[in-house]
Amino acid sequence: MPPVWRPPTPPWTEDVARKSEAAQRLIGRIAVAHPNATFATSLQIEDAVVTDLIARAGAKIDLFMLETGRLAEETLEAKLAIQQRYGLEIAAYKPDPAEVAAWVARHGQDGFYEGVELRKACCAMRKVRPLARALTGRTAWITGQRREQAQSRADLREQEFDDAHGIEKYNPLADWTLDDVWAYARARDLPVNALYARGYASIGCDPCTRAIRADEDVRAGRWWWEANNSKECGLHVAEAPALTS
Ligand code: SF4
Repeated sequence: MPPVWRPPTPPWTEDVARKSEAAQRLIGRIAVAHPNATFATSLQIEDAVVTDLIARAGAKIDLFMLETGRLAEETLEAKLAIQQRYGLEIAAYKPDPAEVAAWVARHGQDGFYEGVELRKACCAMRKVRPLARALTGRTAWITGQRREQAQSRADLREQEFDDAHGIEKYNPLADWTLDDVWAYARARDLPVNALYARGYASIGCDPCTRAIRADEDVRAGRWWWEANNSKECGLHVAEAPALTS
């Protein structure tokens, strides 16, 4: 049996330095062009990098997270560590409690395991609708997405118009590799979610994320019971997802 995945330990390179400077400059430009821009952090390694770049750029950009109600304790601890390191507040957007209660009563707490439609409905309730609230009144948002992360992100651009929310969307790490991200995080000694050290290569809600083996795709631990082409939660689609309950 292949060993459990472990976070890489790549060296700092000139390429990482060049990408860091470019991303920092982009973040500075976003803050000027969009004084109400906001950064959506999921407390993953990419988000730690973007948070650090925002701080280094001296950019006044709000941070928020989607506190789905199903996050792992380690992810909530990573939130506290980031807040403490940078002296900032990460606003938490939560699902509507009445909607959650009705959904759980009908489908069960873990009803999302029953099929892609129910899983997407859970993501719509716990992530997509809170995201829409977080972006209301904004003209731009920033993510830590990278092209390399998934087939569905292969065409990701640094800047794109988010049709679903009617605002600009920036992905400053679009062309970063996994090694770039870890090289940056290690060189800057960033606070990192403890789940990475336990073989979690990509981290989402607790019941929908597992550790992976070294020979698996880095997103294999996300919704592992589904086929690869359905592995998105609806946060990054061009149009608002169809909502089912
Ligand atoms: S990742 Fe899982 S628990 Fe979280 S919102 Fe989606 S289906 Fe629900």
